[in-house]
Amino acid sequence: MNDKKPSVTVIGGGLAGCEAAWAIANAGILVDLYEMKPKKHSPAHTSNYLAELVCSNSLKARRIDSAAGLLKEEMRRLGSLCISAAEQAAVAAGGALAVDRDLFSGYITKAMEEHPNISVIHEEVTTIPKEGVVVVASGPLTSEALSEDIQRLCGKGLHFYDAAAPIVMADSIDKEHAFCASRYDKNAEENSQGDYVNCPMNKEEYEAFHAALVSAEIAPLHGFDKANPDVYEGCMPIEVLAKRGADSIRFGPMKPVGLRDPKTGHRPWAVLQLRAENNEKTMYNLVGFQTNLKFPEQKRVFGMIPALNHAEFVRFGVMHRNTFINSPAFLTAGYHFKLQDGLFFAGQMTGVEGYMESASSGLLAGLNAVRFLKGAVELHLPRTTMMGALAGFISDKNEDFQPMGANFGVLPPLEKSIRDKRERYGALSHRALADLEQFAVENGIQLVE
Ligand SMILES: Cc1cc2nc3c(=O)[nH]c(=O)nc-3n(C[C@H](O)[C@H](O)[C@H](O)COP(=O)(O)OP(=O)(O)OC[C@H]3O[C@@H](n4cnc5c(N)ncnc54)[C@H](O)[C@@H]3O)c2cc1C
Repeated sequence: MNDKKPSVTVIGGGLAGCEAAWAIANAGILVDLYEMKPKKHSPAHTSNYLAELVCSNSLKARRIDSAAGLLKEEMRRLGSLCISAAEQAAVAAGGALAVDRDLFSGYITKAMEEHPNISVIHEEVTTIPKEGVVVVASGPLTSEALSEDIQRLCGKGLHFYDAAAPIVMADSIDKEHAFCASRYDKNAEENSQGDYVNCPMNKEEYEAFHAALVSAEIAPLHGFDKANPDVYEGCMPIEVLAKRGADSIRFGPMKPVGLRDPKTGHRPWAVLQLRAENNEKTMYNLVGFQTNLKFPEQKRVFGMIPALNHAEFVRFGVMHRNTFINSPAFLTAGYHFKLQDGLFFAGQMTGVEGYMESASSGLLAGLNAVRFLKGAVELHLPRTTMMGALAGFISDKNEDFQPMGANFGVLPPLEKSIRDKRERYGALSHRALADLEQFAVENGIQLVE
């Protein structure tokens, strides 16, 4: 245990925890990094390395004009350890950045063990210290005892299961086959700003859709993800509900009552409702469509709904174990816990989703832990950057908060819209990196060339 002050305690030696420890230690501050492995493993962790990749070895696209590529470039410029490790451990993977998982985690483990300011302590933490500067980054499979203690802080604002419906980009919805209205909205025709985007289907379209849905391929479940009775009761996958009968979803999430299609003047046979996912209304979620279908199947089957024929999915539906806090109620855009000074959360448990998203939040939480110790103002990165937009998404008011990975829908739209998708994404990335640079100059942050 480090005995000199100041120091920071980081709980969890995963992607976010190691990234946070690296940022803190490089600022000259001592870090006690607690990792429960190898004494105890979560149901998904198998190796004894820190920063283990529990499933795929892909860190997604490299191209800077992709959302995942932009995120990695911002992290690289901010001195990310995970990006250095990935560059060292990269394997051939076309346009993606994939890694040899042992080389990747081995590189990070060595960096942690050899850093003069970091002490790695292989112990399970069961309670969050009530004082001092602490970063909690214990991941989506946080140990039970620590989860209980987080529950002490967050009450019902700690979730153990992710039952999320897919989300699509607003500009990819075919408006010719959709109309805006809330149920029983008498002004549907005039009300082009209605709360829901309704995607109507006629009888033939619905029957074809239903047949595809009940025969679509389901994603394999990990043992610890097997049907959770509490979740299934209140949040049944759409395909399971559909299997109960030809009309079960037409009387459930796709019920057309209170809706009239202005195009036909009639009530549709069935309707999928889309609800805005963010204030800017750049993303919409498929209401009631939490699902366990394989991702390509979600695209194929949900794409049969006429308004979604060309939909771009920014997040597919999932139903799996995932410990995450209701961050909009508890965290700032600097990952600081609002109810305890000096306490930060980072990683998947904040509601960012994905390897690099988790690491990026660790990086920002680490930088902010340092600033907290120094009495400096908390860093909130520009919303036009991918890291800033994700931090904003998890901390913005949101009554139906679900985790989110990097995608261009979380960024504010360009001032001048660009039709061509590739060009638009290029412009969004360009703006993000220019704004990051400007922000770094204004805040005295040294970026990596
Ligand atoms: C089964 C599964 C598969 C996934 N597959 C992918 C994928 O393919 N691609 C992708 O982008 N994302 C994937 N994710 C999502 C996410 O990117 C990963 O979970 C990622 O590792 C999250 O990073 P993290 O740092 O938040 O948590 P982790 O990397 O899980 O790190 C948390 C660390 O904290 C330790 N810990 C837990 N409790 C305690 C405690 N009480 N005391 C001390 N240490 C503790 C754990 O042992 C672990 O090392 C997956 C998630 C799961 C659960």
